[in-house]
Amino acid sequence: MSTSFSGEGGEGGDGCLRVCNYHTQSACLSVRCLYFLLDPATIANTMFDRFAPKLGIDLGTTNVLVYVPGAGVVLNEPSVVAVSDDNQVLAVGVEAKLMIGRTPESIRAYRPMKDGVIADYRVTEAMLRYFIKKALGRYQILRPEVMISVPAGVTSTEKRAVVEAAAKAGAKNAYVVKEPILAAIGAGVPIYEPQGHMIVDIGGGTIDAAVISLGGIVAANSVKCAGNRIDAAIIDYIKKTQNLAIGEKTAEEVKITVGSALPLSEELSMSLKGRDLVTGLPRTTQVNTNEIVRAISRELRTMVKAIKDVFQDTPPELASDIIDSGIIMTGGTSQLRNFPELIRRRTGVKAYVADQALFCVAKGTGIALEHLNTYKRTILAKR
Ligand code: ADP
Ligand code: MG
Repeated sequence: MSTSFSGEGGEGGDGCLRVCNYHTQSACLSVRCLYFLLDPATIANTMFDRFAPKLGIDLGTTNVLVYVPGAGVVLNEPSVVAVSDDNQVLAVGVEAKLMIGRTPESIRAYRPMKDGVIADYRVTEAMLRYFIKKALGRYQILRPEVMISVPAGVTSTEKRAVVEAAAKAGAKNAYVVKEPILAAIGAGVPIYEPQGHMIVDIGGGTIDAAVISLGGIVAANSVKCAGNRIDAAIIDYIKKTQNLAIGEKTAEEVKITVGSALPLSEELSMSLKGRDLVTGLPRTTQVNTNEIVRAISRELRTMVKAIKDVFQDTPPELASDIIDSGIIMTGGTSQLRNFPELIRRRTGVKAYVADQALFCVAKGTGIALEHLNTYKRTILAKR
């Protein structure tokens, strides 16, 4: 099994890289190279590499997406795992999410990717195994090449742990690339141009803003405030103003159905159900857009500040590029009504949501995997 990971160089997934290694490391170049090129095991390996299935995995806080080059997103399930009290993994994905809030004391259903960092590696490995197996189907015998997105702020130890988890979960070769780069690739940004691009990925746990130029991250910021915190703010608001307890799912529904980053002149409204905190009985109430805008204003300010802070660290030439190209938004929370307009008003730079915002990172993993040679520099990059 060969594994390689960002920051460590090492053996790549393609035969060509291995040939180069032999060239440089061997004292008697020509003899060794000839032997190497004719070595049946190497030839077989290189051929299998070509036929090995390829999987791109967006390991998100909220959702895990698996992308297969040529087929698109083949799996999209919640990043939830149910574990028994003796640490056995009982269920993963959709099945595990159904258990949240409904488990007996002996079972715990939780998210191993908390706030954009991997909180539990053993469970993450189980989750990867489940998704790899499900994406490949039962009859696949070749082990896959896997590209996994990692948060921009991960340490090299964390990167190594993800690669090891993927290898243990059945990957032949595992690569990791930082999420903002993958989001940019997935959004169709030409990352290798000597031109600055700002990409802001707003998911469930974190907002990640990064300026990319020449295939690398020039400035970046990650703040633990995104979709989940917006949901929590809505729960708080309904509790305080209506004396009504609502669940996370209802709060998310409110956010998507009537929520907005800016007040609307023609408000939307919806009715929602919860438990009255005084009587303890179920009750229905009504919410409107503009009260939700007020309820989530602190979270919106935090997210805007996360973007402004990246501009502070951006070299002036790149900042001027971004004025021209605009801020590219990806991730589920970028779809909050009027969010690009709020960012434009607060930063003075136009912002727009990328096509298929929820799938950009997953798409990026697939594209990078398909064009390993093109993106080799980024995959092996130190930062
Ligand atoms: P992650 O990468 O952290 O797994 P995603 O990019 O999948 O997160 O985004 C999930 C978040 O996006 C959730 O908080 C979800 O509520 C939110 N979301 C999805 N669709 C919308 C929408 N239309 N408006 C606002 N928020 C949304
Ligand atoms: Mg994400």
